[in-house]
Amino acid sequence: MKVGIDLGGSHIAIGLVDNGKIVQKDEKVFNKLNIINKKDFIENYIKEYVNANRNRIESIGIAIPGTIVDNIVKKSVNLGFEDYDIISSLKEDFNMEIKIKNDAKCAGIAEFEFGSIKGYKNAVFITLGTGIGGAVFCNGKLVEGNCFSGTEIGHMIIEKNGNLCKCGKNGCFETYASMRVLKTNLKKSLDLNDDVHGEELLQIVKNDMGNEKISGVIDKYIDYLCVGISNLINIFEPDVIAIGGSFIHFSEILLPKIKYTLLNSELLFNKRNDINIKVAELGNDAGIIGSSIL
Ligand SMILES: [Zn+2]
Repeated sequence: MKVGIDLGGSHIAIGLVDNGKIVQKDEKVFNKLNIINKKDFIENYIKEYVNANRNRIESIGIAIPGTIVDNIVKKSVNLGFEDYDIISSLKEDFNMEIKIKNDAKCAGIAEFEFGSIKGYKNAVFITLGTGIGGAVFCNGKLVEGNCFSGTEIGHMIIEKNGNLCKCGKNGCFETYASMRVLKTNLKKSLDLNDDVHGEELLQIVKNDMGNEKISGVIDKYIDYLCVGISNLINIFEPDVIAIGGSFIHFSEILLPKIKYTLLNSELLFNKRNDINIKVAELGNDAGIIGSSIL
């Protein structure tokens, strides 16, 4: 079997995967560790897990939020890592194939092979969560650059001189259209505490859809989101678009509005009567499944 590892900003999930199905899963949280301790924690946990299941494992894949160059984590803002060669560190302990890739691309690969965009040749996968990431498939192949892996869709500029992004640029898509931005703006407009949980917020919004404050925030959010999505459609003309991340919990509210705005505004170069936009199917497991088949 193959091991898939999903490394998040504050937690790590490991799964044993058999033909796209997770047969065993384990997770740990590592809040508030400095970078050296964080690396130790992650490596020790992976080594422990792999050693305990050694005779069942044929390969390891790692999904990580950040930029990978030549199998080295060039930069992960979420984790605070720079030039981190996690593969060499792990290979000291076990001699098996280990691969690593950006987490959004791993999730996209999982959706492409086993989930919402399976069976399509040209697809765009977008993950809307704390930030925005994505994966693009053209003619059945994942689009990747040479020096850098590319498709950093969260960092396409949609507003010149706009909001400062943590990447250092201004006006990036994710500073307007991540789920974090939507949730923060909803809480602000409703005078809610910052610690109100996503699920709780969703209920508040669902129960009060006539509230002009709520619809104002959502409409503005949808406007920005559709600018970004329309850019992707105009460039790639995919057969299907799937959206994952924490978006899936709000999809009932957001998806019809996205579709309506794309079809009824002046955003699309090629006008059409319908558009194939879906909700991702694999949820939180996409990172594990995708990384296991790298
Ligand atoms: Zn950016």
